[in-house]
Amino acid sequence: MDIVVVGGGPGGIQFTKTVKSHNPDINITVIRPEPFSVIYCALPYVIEDLVDKIKVRKSDGLITDTGAKLVKDEAVGVDFDNNVVQTKKSGNFRFDKLIIATGASPVIPPIKGSNLKNILTVKTESDLEQILEYVNLGAEKAVVVGAGNIGIEMSVALKHKGIETHLIEMQDRVVPNMLSKDMSKLPEEELLQEGIHLKLNTAVTEFSGEDRVTEVKLSNGEKITLGEKDIVIMCVGVKANIELFKESPLNIDRDGIVVNEYMETNVDNVYAVGDCASYISYIDKKPLGGKLATNAVPMARICAYRILGRNYKYQGFINGAITKCINWRMGGTGFNEEMAKSRGFDIVTAKGETTTRFPMIPGATKVIVKLIAEKETLKILGAEVVAGESVPQFIDVISYAIQKQSTAYDLFQFSYCAQPFQTFFPASNAIVQAAEKLLNT
Ligand SMILES: Cc1cc2nc3c(=O)[nH]c(=O)nc-3n(C[C@H](O)[C@H](O)[C@H](O)COP(=O)(O)OP(=O)(O)OC[C@H]3O[C@@H](n4cnc5c(N)ncnc54)[C@H](O)[C@@H]3O)c2cc1C
Repeated sequence: MDIVVVGGGPGGIQFTKTVKSHNPDINITVIRPEPFSVIYCALPYVIEDLVDKIKVRKSDGLITDTGAKLVKDEAVGVDFDNNVVQTKKSGNFRFDKLIIATGASPVIPPIKGSNLKNILTVKTESDLEQILEYVNLGAEKAVVVGAGNIGIEMSVALKHKGIETHLIEMQDRVVPNMLSKDMSKLPEEELLQEGIHLKLNTAVTEFSGEDRVTEVKLSNGEKITLGEKDIVIMCVGVKANIELFKESPLNIDRDGIVVNEYMETNVDNVYAVGDCASYISYIDKKPLGGKLATNAVPMARICAYRILGRNYKYQGFINGAITKCINWRMGGTGFNEEMAKSRGFDIVTAKGETTTRFPMIPGATKVIVKLIAEKETLKILGAEVVAGESVPQFIDVISYAIQKQSTAYDLFQFSYCAQPFQTFFPASNAIVQAAEKLLNT
């Protein structure tokens, strides 16, 4: 069997590894344009000088050591009648099965002036190089648009490089897809204390300048003047890379190529995984964005097993995700309060608050867990977490609770561990505290 994988990110790599580890006789060709694939999540830490830029390059061996062939080229067309992928320089590749894993690219919204040259995005190694060039040339000011995970991480990195940083967010809070307003206050205060000029409820209305942005106009009437070496970084989300398939028979919607629980598209022998695919929420089974590496990898595994003859089903996105400000770490899973309401749920919420270690232990800081549950059934729909450390331990447990359709009663009975340097006292756990409050709402 000949399989062609278009895209060599986490989705393409995981698919290849899983198939090849079970059946080395299946021929896999991975087509990927970049000379080096990079670990995107670590890019802010390169800018901040915490990580050497060479270390964020992924080894091509992740693909080639499996026995798969890596073609460093761009797919420019697919002939679905004759099962052939056309590339820019390397000719055509015939397939029995095609895996589309083309990922997503940062969005640049149609704001006036958004094509000016010092407006950058954060994804590829070339994006990183461009940002580093400005930083190393002595950028004095940066405007980061969008205070989601990437916007916050980039703002902190730029500020730590001594650059005056303005973080502009349209909504009333930072990480709006993760936290609601009562939970976002701590990170917001920290960003302001750090000297980052955070503007909430504010949109960028225009970039002006001749070839580069010299002024950023905001909806509150303010203007930020930029010098010759200064930059704007757009962190307002991503869109699926599906241009190649616009005229194809593939079923495509707002989030990408529509797939079923096996990652099959509407075209026989054509599959899509990761950020380029459109799928559903685990919780309400309705379409939901889920552009995370932690979704791309399981989707790719499910797809690989389907081709290997095992019919595991991908049940949908739960979207557990985490990020970090300076000291505060933030996480969310399932639906946050606003999202649960907007998807039609009648909800109750409750918070648990402890410290991350026994309070007398050096380094103990606050942890706040907010649980969101369906009012009638107390079924857990999501959680928001802010803590000085160890957020994943809460997010992963609650993601699993959602996966297991748990209620507040289940989490009230959740069995946890305790030790002075790693948790609060045995007397309490922030998840159990919040769950107990939900039982009493
Ligand atoms: C700065 C940043 C931080 C992030 N942090 C996190 C995090 O902390 N946790 C998390 O879970 N997720 C994070 N993400 C999201 C995560 O990186 C993506 O969800 C993940 O990379 C998706 O994997 P993928 O394989 O679907 O797509 P991608 O990784 O985007 O890979 C797609 C590949 O397809 C290639 N391709 C596209 N078009 C073509 C074509 N025509 N021909 C050939 N190849 C093509 C691309 O060049 C690329 O190699 C972050 C993303 C960014 C940008």
